[in-house]
Amino acid sequence: MRGGGGGGGGMWGAAMAMEDGDKLTADQARRVVRRAFRMLRPYRRQVLLSAVVMVLFTGCALAGPLFVRYGIDHGLRHRDKGALDMAVIGYGIVAVASLVLSRTQIMLVTRVGEQFLRDMRRRVFRHLLGQSMAFYDSEQTGKLVARMTSDIDSLTELVQQGLVMFVTNALLLVFTIVILVSLSPVLAAACLVALPIVILASIKFRRDSNKAYLDVRDRIGQTLSTLQEGISGVRVIQAFGQEENTIGRFGQHNTAQLDANMHATRISARYFPVIEIAGIGTTAALVGIGGVLQHRGLVSVGTIGAFVLYLTNLFEPVQQLSQLFNVLQSAAAALSKLFGLLDTKSVLAERSGAVDLPLVGDFEVADLGFSYVSTRDVVLDDVSLSIRHGERVALVGPTGAGKSTLAKLMARLYDPTVGSVSYGGVDLRDATFASLRERICVVPQEGFLFYGTVLDNVRIGASGATDDDVVAALQRIGIYEHFASLPEGLQTPVQERGSRLSAGERQLVSLARAALANPAVLVLDEATSNLDPGTESTVEHALNVLMEGRTVIVIAHRLSTAERADRVAVVDAGGIVEMGPHHELVNAGGRYAALFASWSGASSAAAS
Ligand code: ATP
Repeated sequence: MRGGGGGGGGMWGAAMAMEDGDKLTADQARRVVRRAFRMLRPYRRQVLLSAVVMVLFTGCALAGPLFVRYGIDHGLRHRDKGALDMAVIGYGIVAVASLVLSRTQIMLVTRVGEQFLRDMRRRVFRHLLGQSMAFYDSEQTGKLVARMTSDIDSLTELVQQGLVMFVTNALLLVFTIVILVSLSPVLAAACLVALPIVILASIKFRRDSNKAYLDVRDRIGQTLSTLQEGISGVRVIQAFGQEENTIGRFGQHNTAQLDANMHATRISARYFPVIEIAGIGTTAALVGIGGVLQHRGLVSVGTIGAFVLYLTNLFEPVQQLSQLFNVLQSAAAALSKLFGLLDTKSVLAERSGAVDLPLVGDFEVADLGFSYVSTRDVVLDDVSLSIRHGERVALVGPTGAGKSTLAKLMARLYDPTVGSVSYGGVDLRDATFASLRERICVVPQEGFLFYGTVLDNVRIGASGATDDDVVAALQRIGIYEHFASLPEGLQTPVQERGSRLSAGERQLVSLARAALANPAVLVLDEATSNLDPGTESTVEHALNVLMEGRTVIVIAHRLSTAERADRVAVVDAGGIVEMGPHHELVNAGGRYAALFASWSGASSAAAS
């Protein structure tokens, strides 16, 4: 009549393998639990119902042996048919009830838990999408994905059965002790003698097996990476006759994996007999001492029978609780990491009282200085720049000079460390996000393609845009025909990997998004990839139409783009070293003239 299923050594393998850093202090654990309960508030009815069902289940599980005791003492010893029938029927009812309740509690608790996890996943994802570029500079994508996968997995393990087993086992253990002591304190003392041994053995088992599983996990990792390396590098291995060496290395890891597994098995093999012997010894002691007490008329045969039945409620919970302890600990650690992530504030937050940017305006970059938080190196220093509405400014300069950084600051993807960027007289930090994204649109070098159709991908430019809006945007920049002529037209499926679009077409999608967004300012990182002449001219044409009537800040990688701009700003070593129209700068014979000369040389060499 025990619920929840058994918990052998392997079942909790994944959760048992806890890293040292996973341990929380009691205070941290308390805070995590309190916050988890707050998140459970919307489900408080379900939580309450689950608690009631768990208590009822425990009650039924505990009532069984009492019916057996009654049946033996009244039904069998006094040959009372009525009492025996009652005991049998009562036992049958609580047996069936505990089966039903066990199922119900698993369903209820799992439902609450899964809803909690769904909310958590949604919160974390929303939070991640709201973070600034600075956040992504300092966080590794792998770690963020781990929050959503392995940390959520640790919690899943807890909510699927772990929690039910933990609560019911704890209740069973406590109430069994209470019932045993109230039935016969002397017999209860005999039973409880072995309990400390079982508890100590369980604690030692948990510690040792945790270490052993971590070791097994490491060894499996090493074997797998040797395997993977061998398969990916098979050509080199064969070309240099390294087969035997590679097999030798694989063999070492493979044997180490076997040893680690055997060590883990030895730990289990040592532990389980201790529990068995404790169980058998206690039963024997119970029957022996119970027999003596029964002779003296101190306990009934039924009580001895009930004690024997209750023994499983005594040792099994200890065994399972000690194993569940790891599940609980890793779940609490996972929750704490997730809460930690949710607590990171976005550096780019909208200020209270933020105002909308004016529809049109001039750009003013004043005494700007910037360092990335991750490196703290000064990337831009004392940069000042004014751009009139409708002006096109090309940023040129050597690689690593700070062009992209300056462009990103002008779109408020980062905030300046010192100085300010304002548009139409409003500091970008005082602007509402909605107006900022509406006025200023960033077109990256390589537009990211999301899983979906061409139509869906362009629609990202303006949420709520209809199919007709998308078609009109494509037509405006003269690329509708191009996409319509694809076999499936605008419905052509695309995705980031294995995209069916060429590099040029991907750029066209990016431009179409900007055309649909219809911003006052375009911040453009010109693509560097070489396109075939046909596509190149389509992209150029689309770009020219798109730039008309807008303020444009373009990171120019091509001579022609810089030439066409109203002004060119030469960025070098974190500052603007020259600024002016193309022909003036060429005539001035400075940095730009030299750059231009090397560009023209390179392009005429390429043309010849
Ligand atoms: P390129 O033409 O190669 O794109 P750029 O002139 O646009 O170069 P930036 O990308 O602005 O140069 O980089 C300026 C400096 O800032 C470089 O030293 C670069 O290493 C550093 N940098 C750029 N992005 C980051 C980042 N996310 N975190 C830390 N440092 C960065």
